[in-house]
Amino acid sequence: MSHWTVEPGKTRLGWIGTGVMGRWMAGHLLQAGYHLTIYNRTRSKAEPLLQAGAQWAESPRQVAEVSDVIFTMVGFPADVRQVILGPEGVLAGCSPGKIIVDMTTSQPALAVEIAQQAAQRGVVALDAPVTGGDVGAREAKLSIMIGGDPEAAQALRPCFECMGKTIVYHGPAGSGQHAKLANQIVIASQMVALCEGLLYAYKAGLDLQKVLQSVGAGSASSWSVQNLGPRILAGNFDPGFFVEHFIKDMAIALEEARRMGLALPGLALAHQLYMSVQALGHGRKGTHALQLALAAMSGIDWTNRPPVTVSSPWQKT
Ligand code: NAP
Repeated sequence: MSHWTVEPGKTRLGWIGTGVMGRWMAGHLLQAGYHLTIYNRTRSKAEPLLQAGAQWAESPRQVAEVSDVIFTMVGFPADVRQVILGPEGVLAGCSPGKIIVDMTTSQPALAVEIAQQAAQRGVVALDAPVTGGDVGAREAKLSIMIGGDPEAAQALRPCFECMGKTIVYHGPAGSGQHAKLANQIVIASQMVALCEGLLYAYKAGLDLQKVLQSVGAGSASSWSVQNLGPRILAGNFDPGFFVEHFIKDMAIALEEARRMGLALPGLALAHQLYMSVQALGHGRKGTHALQLALAAMSGIDWTNRPPVTVSSPWQKT
């Protein structure tokens, strides 16, 4: 692009990573009328987008060669490094003036490294991770946290508005990732609280539907209570948000906190608990699978719950 004007029908967009989140986010751009070229490690996961009119490319590099703005939404920092900085990566296919937007939750230091390497080629790279879950991605209601060149961030607002409702610029490269890590630190302890509360209510013999109704309408409510609470009750631990991705986020946040000389014991506890969730074989389940590990600690098989008898010192049995 000679100048940063983004317009459906004219601006050519590229998208790499069509998983749980990316397939919806890319789909919204396609629906808005943008020309879209896509790549994903497993091609079958890109089929719905291809059928909806997206073009397939054989590598991230080829996506970049035919696109003005290239979005990435992959899994781990190692994936980000490969798809952007690798020999067949996005940057290798970029000519000056193009913009790369990494929406993966990744390391702030990697976002800075990408922005620096991109700048050497006359390319701008933004970090723009998201929160709002699979539901937010599907309903285009994500909260998007942006770091990097402020003019490029402003120019891409029409694209971000296709995917999200809250779009906030946080500062130079890496700032979007830092904001996302702050979000994950909040969620980490919230998840422990949600699962412990439901476990307590179960052991107390309460009707969990009613508990969720009360808690979900009060001051302890949260996105997790409202969206993941019902899935926990139903025993449906499909992702959602993978446990292994959450562990990745918490590990990055703990490493950043260590570098800052910051004590975050709540985060450290949640990280340890989630290590146990993974060790129990639930790494590819949703983050609410924490319920399974916490229940197991108290000798409860959550997926095969026996009836609960309430014993209380002032109740005759
Ligand atoms: P996902 O379903 O695993 O999607 C990632 C996609 O990227 C997959 O389709 C994967 O290909 C592809 N990919 C990974 N490495 C690749 C590579 N080297 N080359 C090409 N394609 C590659 O994960 P997700 O749930 O969409 O999450 C994506 C990112 O967003 C993660 O960083 C996660 O932490 C973050 N996030 C997730 C949520 C959520 O609720 N799910 C919410 C906010 C943020 P395959 O199809 O071959 O696996």
